[in-house]
Amino acid sequence: MVSTRTPLIAGNWKMNLDHLQAIAFVQKLAWTLGDAKHDFGDVEVAVFPPFTDLRSVQTLIAADKLELAYGGQDVSAHESGAYTGEISASFLKALDTGYVIIGHSERRQYHAESDEIVAAKVKAAVGKGIVPIICVGETSDDLEKHGASAVPVAQLRAALEGLPKGTDVVVAYEPVWAIGSGQAATAEQAEQVCAALREVVKESLGDDAAAATRILYGGSVKSGNIAGFMREPNVDGALVGGASLDVDEFAAIVRYKK
Ligand code: PGA
Repeated sequence: MVSTRTPLIAGNWKMNLDHLQAIAFVQKLAWTLGDAKHDFGDVEVAVFPPFTDLRSVQTLIAADKLELAYGGQDVSAHESGAYTGEISASFLKALDTGYVIIGHSERRQYHAESDEIVAAKVKAAVGKGIVPIICVGETSDDLEKHGASAVPVAQLRAALEGLPKGTDVVVAYEPVWAIGSGQAATAEQAEQVCAALREVVKESLGDDAAAATRILYGGSVKSGNIAGFMREPNVDGALVGGASLDVDEFAAIVRYKK
């Protein structure tokens, strides 16, 4: 069956590019991609800047009518109140934010985000009409002990718990050992886990959601390996870290069909 899902190439900037650098980056990216619109027109492109850049990125995209989506790198599970340093889903929505990354392994590792916190954040985003990009993935230790699928499958099940059938989500399979290591999973490994994750979406959100949900691969994606991932039937795009900080390299990933 041919997939009707629009591929999504998402650039996770992490804690890089201040608001001035962000403006220059987005302008150059739009210009670089604009040349070849017919080549990548059926690929959705999104950038995930630090919170302090979001307003600048929003203003630029709206003013120049750029065909770029954007989102936050995290969101609070709480609606408002005494949560120093946190950013609510309402704040992100007020900036027209379409997506938010939730449960990235760096949040799970450095900020002790449990599956319960991830699930609460997913609910907070969905409640405000922001599509969560739910990150799951196994460490090399998990891989050795439980194989590739067990941990990501359990993480996704927990993250989707209690959501209404048909909820619009994006899933990102990011093996922790592949993030920033230069050692990407093989396309076959990614396909195997992404297929298992689609089954979880089916159990939790129903058949239609399983057919419509984009499942991304992330972890050392580059222009040289993206096409292999995109040939797999259950891989619908990529969450790109390091390589999303170089405009030409990121644009080459978006144009993976060429
Ligand atoms: P990487 O990061 O592309 O630098 O491996 C991916 C991610 O953390 O989302």
